[in-house]
Amino acid sequence: MNIFFISAECYPMAKVGGLADVVGALPKYLNKYDANVSVVIPKYDMPWFEEKNMAIVYQDTIHFAFEEVHFKVLQCLSKDIGYTFYAIDIPGKFDRRGVYADENGHFFEDETERLISFQRAFLQWINHFGQKPDIIHCHDHHTGLIPFMMQYAYEFEGLKNIPTVFSIHNERYQGAFSWDKRYLLPDYDDEKGGLLDWGEMINPLASAVKCSWKLNTVSPSYMKELQEQSFGLEWLFQHEKEKSQGILNGIDTKVWDPKNDDFLITKLVKSPSLFKSKNKMHLIKKYGLKRGKALISYIGRFAYEKGADLLPNAIQDYLNKSEDAVFIILGTGDPEVEKAFKNLNKKYPRQVAALVTYNEKVSHEIYAGSDFLIMPSRVEPCGLNQMYAMRYGTIPIVRDIGGLKDSVTAIKDKKGTGIKFKEATNEDILKALDTAVMLYLEKNTFEKIRLDIFKQDFSWEQSAQKYLNIYHELTQQD
Ligand code: ADP
Repeated sequence: MNIFFISAECYPMAKVGGLADVVGALPKYLNKYDANVSVVIPKYDMPWFEEKNMAIVYQDTIHFAFEEVHFKVLQCLSKDIGYTFYAIDIPGKFDRRGVYADENGHFFEDETERLISFQRAFLQWINHFGQKPDIIHCHDHHTGLIPFMMQYAYEFEGLKNIPTVFSIHNERYQGAFSWDKRYLLPDYDDEKGGLLDWGEMINPLASAVKCSWKLNTVSPSYMKELQEQSFGLEWLFQHEKEKSQGILNGIDTKVWDPKNDDFLITKLVKSPSLFKSKNKMHLIKKYGLKRGKALISYIGRFAYEKGADLLPNAIQDYLNKSEDAVFIILGTGDPEVEKAFKNLNKKYPRQVAALVTYNEKVSHEIYAGSDFLIMPSRVEPCGLNQMYAMRYGTIPIVRDIGGLKDSVTAIKDKKGTGIKFKEATNEDILKALDTAVMLYLEKNTFEKIRLDIFKQDFSWEQSAQKYLNIYHELTQQD
């Protein structure tokens, strides 16, 4: 079964968040079975591409109303990726350092033009195949116009019968744009124009929800939540319930392997306690933090849905009343939040490290060396950080929603995998911090839980089977 994943991100080529991790890992697991997955992303001006040997397999021109855009499809010749990897080179649109934003964090203003050129280039390419793919699997709004164009654009008539799957990794970003830009789309059956529309805008995410053959979110709880609250699309999600499913993400257990992680100063050999204490000491020394305290960390984007803006106050309030914890924050995003963390570090240099940067290696060091990882998310489609944390013996402190609800069980009577709290409020976060520090001080229980979470299995195996079931159902193969 030939499946094409199409996405704006893929790890390790171009990563902003969890979308890249999923697109870079799931194909490896699917390819162990009867699937043959190829991944397609835009070619960015990023270091990974400089080191790789890529061959041109197709070139063509997209005829926009006011512009001719030439593109090349490149295939990576390395054999060690675990799937066939293609990058579409579209000069002028994607030959930039960032995926969505420049180095100063400013989002690109021509996002709509870029993404439509990527999607049209992909369709023009596969339209030329003698043997068409069996499934097209689109990820997030960046590729959300593909199911519509395959069904109703005259140019892509030949792709009409290929089933499409649409995965929502984050519904908050919908990619909506004005109908004034309709000229960017190829000619299509006018009667079907309503399938592009939501709220009098062309909305790629809503269009994919309507037009894809099968829809999924990256956790079962998030699917339910979207039916109740989804930035105006609630009714649509209720309406499309029959073709929808929630499938919890897994993690790439080879990339995230404490026994074999070259980013770490100390790998997991025999003793989990030694692994934790050495990696913790490395962090404490590196960032000049006080010793002998519970180390609580945060890793992630400083975006509203992640609730990172709630942490500076909560940490400040905690440190006003107790000296039992130290904190490491790794992330970038909202400038106000970045400033608040930096100020906290100035005020409490030995209790708060504020690393306002994106750094893959440091993230691995933090997962390995922390006692706890906090995720006060307002919305969390799946969340991978809690799974990486557990894999490295770090106890998650999470809000009980979305994928966090589905992947963490509350600690009670020395059992469970994490500390959970109800609301994204200062009060609930403070209570959760207190609970974490109390647990840390009960050394035996703390060690027991830590040993238990090391043994959790978050590999893709189970979830990959669920995707395979979808593909089989759509192609009616057994
Ligand atoms: P989202 O995709 O919404 O940002 P996820 O939890 O699904 O959230 O995935 C986040 C991924 O991005 C994880 O792999 C996490 O380790 C990584 N990450 C986020 N911020 C940083 C950062 N500043 N440095 C390194 N890795 C980061």
